[in-house]
Amino acid sequence: MTMLFTLSKLDLRRLLCLLLMVTGVKLTRNTYREELLLLVSFDGFRWDYLERDLTPTLNDLAKHGSRGGYIINPFATKTLPSHFTTVTGLYEESHGLVGTKMYDPVLNETFHRNNTSIEWWSQTGQEPIWITNQRQGGSSAVIEYPGMDVSFGGMRPDYEYSHFSYSVPFDKRSDFAVSLLANGSINFAAIYFHEPDLTGHQHGPDSFEMNDTLKLCDNTVKHLMKELKKVNLLHEVNIIFTSDHGMISVDKSRTIYAENYLNDTIYPHFTTEDNPVLSIWPRKGKFGTIYCH
Ligand SMILES: [Zn+2]
Repeated sequence: MTMLFTLSKLDLRRLLCLLLMVTGVKLTRNTYREELLLLVSFDGFRWDYLERDLTPTLNDLAKHGSRGGYIINPFATKTLPSHFTTVTGLYEESHGLVGTKMYDPVLNETFHRNNTSIEWWSQTGQEPIWITNQRQGGSSAVIEYPGMDVSFGGMRPDYEYSHFSYSVPFDKRSDFAVSLLANGSINFAAIYFHEPDLTGHQHGPDSFEMNDTLKLCDNTVKHLMKELKKVNLLHEVNIIFTSDHGMISVDKSRTIYAENYLNDTIYPHFTTEDNPVLSIWPRKGKFGTIYCH
């Protein structure tokens, strides 16, 4: 994660409440109704994007709320693993989702991002905070956040928004959460936005296109705050704006194609595409050959 700050009432008492939710301590429904929490993640929002003078709304919130000085990313810095760390409180090696594509020698299967099998998502019995919230008497909405399609212990989010399309305006996702908070249906919502990560991959983090996308992200926040104000919730909801990782330009001329060095007679399972980390599973007795290249 590269950015974390909160707005308004996230004082010690509320933080304690959140921690209790994570650790599974039983709270009363009344306690939940008092505590409304909105978790908002902008994918790949690098920490210094706030320094470009393009995000007045976010900067204003950081100024009047509280902002973390820094955050240490979980390893590996990849969207799905990092986002699942945020909502489980577990490092990736503990929740087990260490990539978007990965091989598991115990299951003898390869995971792909659309796999919703519980064997992958709850290897040590973990669950995301929206499920913990529901088990403790709260009600959750999940809007495009990674893991929302998975059933944990037979439970799915009470409310899901899964109309993923690049053409659907971001504001619709915010409106969905605000409407549920306003009518008292939920006390927690997690919203995921796939920008500015997409623009960063397509055009680079230092591109003109990125600057336009940062303005879009800021306008999304501006709209969210405006809608919360309309329903008199602006000062009632704790909001966490965060991200999962940063991004940096790389020189493609320095690319090394691992496929040129790995063949399936020795390495039947290796994942290179779509992961920032190369994973190699050699055949039995061939482990030492990794170091010969
Ligand atoms: Zn990401």
